[in-house]
Amino acid sequence: MKDIQFPLFKTKIEGLNRKFNLTNPEEIREYFELKAGPEIKKLRDYLKNNTFIAYLLGKKNSGKGTYSKIFSEIVDKERIAHVSIGDVVRQAHQEILDQGKKEELVNWLSQNYRGYISIEKAIEALLTRNTETLLPTEFILALVKREIDKMERKALFIDGFPRDLDQVSYSLFFRDLIDYRADPDIFVLIDVPKRVIDERMKFRVVCPNCQTPRNLKLYPAKEIKYDEKNKQFFFICDNPACKPRSREISLQGKEIKMVSKEGDELGIKPIKARLEKDERLIKQAFSLYGIPKILLRNSVPVEVAKECVDDYEITPEYSYKWREEAKRVEIIEKPWIFPDDEGVSSCSLLPPPVVLSLIKQMVEVLHL
Ligand SMILES: [Zn+2]
Repeated sequence: MKDIQFPLFKTKIEGLNRKFNLTNPEEIREYFELKAGPEIKKLRDYLKNNTFIAYLLGKKNSGKGTYSKIFSEIVDKERIAHVSIGDVVRQAHQEILDQGKKEELVNWLSQNYRGYISIEKAIEALLTRNTETLLPTEFILALVKREIDKMERKALFIDGFPRDLDQVSYSLFFRDLIDYRADPDIFVLIDVPKRVIDERMKFRVVCPNCQTPRNLKLYPAKEIKYDEKNKQFFFICDNPACKPRSREISLQGKEIKMVSKEGDELGIKPIKARLEKDERLIKQAFSLYGIPKILLRNSVPVEVAKECVDDYEITPEYSYKWREEAKRVEIIEKPWIFPDDEGVSSCSLLPPPVVLSLIKQMVEVLHL
């Protein structure tokens, strides 16, 4: 990202020769124990009696949810929660449509919302929200605070920020939230090259039944099949908890074919303006004084990759070949190299090494 230097983070440990398969949950656990065992223990001890609030600031599809999910699974699932601002707003919308729940929400708002327009007007803006009508900052703040209150004794990752705000309201938003609960506030800024976001979108597929996401180029499912008629490769959902629900799906047998979403093939093209705005807002957050910042980078220049990271920490790219004689799909794996936003030949890290950097920096900012 221009103007902010995201330092390279060395995840390679000299003398450590073990390789890990970072798509296997068991091996991911061992990887973290080996590379960050003492830091994880410090965080676990800290969380027994303390919490933190970390604001995840990254562009759309930068992996915010993935990183915080892995962090909490590895460190302490019971004591860390994830709050998505988008979900909080959508959930409030649902509550207002439900007479029983609406009353409680309105009561809470009448005691906690301080804004320039009435609660009724704010609720109306919520119900009719679209790209033109903006939700008042104070109203989103009240909703987020309510969510924070619900999770009193947990450390929180707050995912996202209201995008509708102008610069002044945006600073106000964070200034107001910070110190709302008496524990450390931390900004976690994530830098992901546009090219990575683009390919994550273009090749994304999801299970229509359980929503498990995969990527045809970057993150294959265990089972890959070939549609001979349409000459297309496709994935079968491999989530063990995924059971066909609708009759329509069960008619096709137990296998559920993962599908791509319409429009995804365009990649970042339709969201270019949105990504630029995200970048501006992240820079603005960076300039807020007095809040410790954790800087995470998703990519490493090829030139220094060998010194900084282990080969198995890098995202490979996959392609497939149909072996007619054997009637099976052959998987071809090779390094994925692409230009980052400055045109530097780079590779992209798998989520675990990025989370490793998050864990180590978290220990530092909390002075553990
Ligand atoms: Zn599924």
